[in-house]
Amino acid sequence: MAVFEAARSSAGHYTAEELLKKSRALDRSVSRATVYRALPLLIECNVVREVDVGRDHKYYLTETGSTPFRAQLICGHCDTILEVDAPFMEWYGKAVAAKHGMKPISQKLQVTALCPKCQK
Ligand SMILES: [Zn+2]
Repeated sequence: MAVFEAARSSAGHYTAEELLKKSRALDRSVSRATVYRALPLLIECNVVREVDVGRDHKYYLTETGSTPFRAQLICGHCDTILEVDAPFMEWYGKAVAAKHGMKPISQKLQVTALCPKCQK
Protein backbone atom coordinates (compact mmCIF):
# COMPACT_ATOMS: atom_id res chain seq x y z
CA MET A 1 0.00 0.00 0.00
CA ALA A 2 2.90 2.34 0.74
CA VAL A 3 4.33 1.73 -2.75
CA PHE A 4 0.89 2.35 -4.26
CA GLU A 5 0.45 5.57 -2.25
CA ALA A 6 3.96 6.74 -3.13
CA ALA A 7 3.28 6.13 -6.84
CA ARG A 8 -0.13 7.83 -6.66
CA SER A 9 1.40 10.95 -5.11
CA SER A 10 4.31 11.13 -7.56
CA ALA A 11 4.26 13.68 -10.34
CA GLY A 12 6.55 13.42 -13.34
CA HIS A 13 8.95 10.63 -14.16
CA TYR A 14 10.70 8.72 -11.41
CA THR A 15 13.03 5.75 -11.06
CA ALA A 16 12.38 2.62 -8.98
CA GLU A 17 14.96 3.89 -6.48
CA GLU A 18 13.13 7.21 -6.14
CA LEU A 19 9.87 5.29 -5.61
CA LEU A 20 11.60 3.17 -2.96
CA LYS A 21 12.73 6.31 -1.11
CA LYS A 22 9.25 7.78 -1.23
CA SER A 23 7.64 4.48 -0.16
CA ARG A 24 10.03 4.19 2.80
CA ALA A 25 9.06 7.68 3.92
CA LEU A 26 5.51 6.35 4.24
CA ASP A 27 6.42 2.94 5.68
CA ARG A 28 9.96 2.19 6.83
CA SER A 29 9.45 -1.57 6.37
CA VAL A 30 9.24 -1.30 2.55
CA SER A 31 12.17 -3.15 0.99
CA ARG A 32 13.72 -2.74 -2.45
CA ALA A 33 12.32 -6.18 -3.36
CA THR A 34 8.82 -5.00 -2.40
CA VAL A 35 9.10 -2.07 -4.80
CA TYR A 36 10.43 -4.24 -7.63
CA ARG A 37 7.65 -6.79 -7.03
CA ALA A 38 4.95 -4.10 -6.84
CA LEU A 39 5.96 -2.22 -10.00
CA PRO A 40 4.88 -4.92 -12.51
CA LEU A 41 1.52 -5.16 -10.70
CA LEU A 42 1.03 -1.39 -10.78
CA ILE A 43 1.88 -1.42 -14.50
CA GLU A 44 -0.54 -4.28 -15.16
CA CYS A 45 -3.31 -2.37 -13.35
CA ASN A 46 -2.56 0.78 -15.38
CA VAL A 47 -1.65 2.75 -12.27
CA VAL A 48 1.90 3.24 -13.50
CA ARG A 49 3.41 3.33 -16.97
CA GLU A 50 6.96 2.16 -17.68
CA VAL A 51 9.01 4.58 -19.75
CA ASP A 52 12.11 3.02 -21.28
CA VAL A 53 14.39 5.67 -22.74
CA GLY A 54 17.23 3.26 -23.49
CA ARG A 55 19.21 3.92 -20.31
CA ASP A 56 20.44 1.34 -17.79
CA HIS A 57 17.40 2.11 -15.63
CA LYS A 58 13.76 2.60 -16.48
CA TYR A 59 11.55 5.51 -15.59
CA TYR A 60 7.99 5.28 -14.35
CA LEU A 61 5.09 7.66 -14.67
CA THR A 62 1.86 7.52 -12.70
CA GLU A 63 -1.15 7.47 -14.99
CA THR A 64 -3.64 10.29 -14.54
CA GLY A 65 -6.83 8.86 -15.97
CA SER A 66 -7.43 8.12 -19.62
CA THR A 67 -4.59 9.68 -21.53
CA PRO A 68 -4.37 9.89 -25.30
CA PHE A 69 -1.34 8.48 -27.10
CA ARG A 70 1.76 10.06 -25.58
CA ALA A 71 5.19 10.52 -27.06
CA GLN A 72 8.34 11.27 -25.11
CA LEU A 73 10.72 14.07 -25.81
CA ILE A 74 13.96 13.18 -24.04
CA CYS A 75 16.95 15.43 -23.50
CA GLY A 76 19.95 13.35 -24.54
CA HIS A 77 22.17 15.24 -22.10
CA CYS A 78 20.28 15.59 -18.79
CA ASP A 79 17.51 12.94 -19.24
CA THR A 80 14.69 15.47 -18.81
CA ILE A 81 11.60 13.71 -20.16
CA LEU A 82 8.57 15.56 -21.49
CA GLU A 83 5.32 13.72 -22.22
CA VAL A 84 3.57 15.18 -25.21
CA ASP A 85 0.20 14.36 -26.72
CA ALA A 86 0.64 12.71 -30.11
CA PRO A 87 -2.83 11.68 -31.33
CA PHE A 88 -1.51 11.65 -34.91
CA MET A 89 0.86 8.82 -33.97
CA GLU A 90 -1.99 6.70 -32.68
CA TRP A 91 -3.85 7.34 -35.92
CA TYR A 92 -0.73 6.63 -37.98
CA GLY A 93 0.01 3.34 -36.17
CA LYS A 94 -3.55 2.12 -36.64
CA ALA A 95 -3.64 3.21 -40.29
CA VAL A 96 -0.32 1.56 -41.20
CA ALA A 97 -1.20 -1.64 -39.33
CA ALA A 98 -4.68 -1.79 -40.92
CA LYS A 99 -3.15 -1.37 -44.37
CA HIS A 100 -1.29 -4.64 -43.77
CA GLY A 101 -4.23 -6.37 -42.08
CA MET A 102 -2.62 -6.07 -38.67
CA LYS A 103 -3.90 -4.79 -35.36
CA PRO A 104 -1.51 -2.65 -33.29
CA ILE A 105 -0.66 -3.96 -29.82
CA SER A 106 1.65 -1.17 -28.79
CA GLN A 107 3.64 1.62 -30.29
CA LYS A 108 5.91 4.33 -29.01
CA LEU A 109 7.52 7.48 -30.24
CA GLN A 110 10.56 8.92 -28.55
CA VAL A 111 12.43 11.93 -29.77
CA THR A 112 15.88 12.55 -28.33
CA ALA A 113 16.76 16.21 -28.34
CA LEU A 114 18.62 18.84 -26.31
CA CYS A 115 16.61 20.86 -23.79
CA PRO A 116 17.07 24.67 -23.79
CA LYS A 117 19.36 24.50 -20.71
CA CYS A 118 21.66 21.89 -22.32
CA GLN A 119 21.86 23.81 -25.60
CA LYS A 120 23.77 26.57 -23.79
ZN1 LIG B 1 18.92 18.82 -20.92
